[in-house]
Amino acid sequence: MGFSRRQFLSNAAVTTASLAIGGDAIAQSQNGNQTPGQASQARELPKPKQPVIITKVTGKQSIDQGWQMLKDGQDTLDAALHICKAQEDDPNDQTVGLGGLPNEEGVVELDSCCMHGPTRKAGSVGGVRNIKNVCLVARDVMRHTGHVMLCGEGAERFAVAMGHPRENLLTEPSRKMWLLWKETNSTQDWWGAGPDDTRWKTPEAPQITLERKRKKLIELAADFGIEPELRERAAEYILFPPTGTIHVSLVNEKGEMSGATTTSGLAWKLPGRLGDSPVVGAGCYCDQDVGSAGATGSGEENIKIAGAHTIVENMRRGMSPREAGMEALQRIVRNYNHDMNRLRYVEMVYYILRRDGQYAGVSLWSNNPSGKPLRFAVHDGSSRLEQTVALLQGNSISWPAEPKPVEEKR
Ligand code: ASP
Repeated sequence: MGFSRRQFLSNAAVTTASLAIGGDAIAQSQNGNQTPGQASQARELPKPKQPVIITKVTGKQSIDQGWQMLKDGQDTLDAALHICKAQEDDPNDQTVGLGGLPNEEGVVELDSCCMHGPTRKAGSVGGVRNIKNVCLVARDVMRHTGHVMLCGEGAERFAVAMGHPRENLLTEPSRKMWLLWKETNSTQDWWGAGPDDTRWKTPEAPQITLERKRKKLIELAADFGIEPELRERAAEYILFPPTGTIHVSLVNEKGEMSGATTTSGLAWKLPGRLGDSPVVGAGCYCDQDVGSAGATGSGEENIKIAGAHTIVENMRRGMSPREAGMEALQRIVRNYNHDMNRLRYVEMVYYILRRDGQYAGVSLWSNNPSGKPLRFAVHDGSSRLEQTVALLQGNSISWPAEPKPVEEKR
């Protein structure tokens, strides 16, 4: 595990060059005959030949249906929410909807937002308890209120009024994993300074090896009645609290776009914590003229750079999806003053789609905390997984959890 400084510097150079290209594009798009409003619009992008969908790897299970919906001429937001809802309904996806890992008090709180390109409308809900399909509630906020964002108890009551059933979202596996976390790891919580704070210290190397700790957790998981096939996953979630979430951006053959994001947020978070997923402009942003983008990963860092909006604006100024995403990632690196020891605790993936069907999946690190290369799902006539283009080579490390012993490669 490790990152290569050389790789980082060469990526930085590429990005600097890309920025210069973007600057030229801005200059080209400016002319003296604009009426008010035109000044903010890029040259008109062509429509794609086929619908295109970009989403998180987990979206693969329903991406074919979503794509067919676009082919059949159904609304773009309905297609995006079809993919989001499939994950919310799936109790085995413990980062979204039913079965999502709970907050530190054992309560599942869900966040979601969506944007509908053709009508240029948005809806969002945050910190919602007891309602499974929050992506549909976000759409209801968009369609049936004069607001954009509802949160907490008010959002739950609104959802019930709109006909969404109240249900228990804490599945038995997630409840038992929460108990395991309480017993073994709850001193490693989200209280205190975060990695972006000068008082924050890189966690001490673990007293016992990771392998021994994993073994102990698997044994303890049995004591908590966690099913044998889920014990390794439980240990992994305690050692490396997962980021999850699903974002979907898509475009149909008419060039109509939509985007949506839904999540149970960071595992073991403080009650009431909102991440980037319900924040229009951070977790998701769609502009019918330009493109759509969304994020999964360290929500706090993404909020600070308004990631999805930044990326769409970069594309408006002429950058390719990949350049636009890399520039946003550079902003996160800048916020950390290029301090790699801290940046290792940040995880970020952007899913980016331009109106003409060009797309990119970009990530801060090349691998997830378990060391696997980060990938995303795409469908543009055929469905496949692709590896993200990474700004930095190596693993991110989950925080707050006991870190993996680190061997630096330089
Ligand atoms: N971005 C989400 C959040 O901060 C977490 C995730 O992507 O898993 O709530």
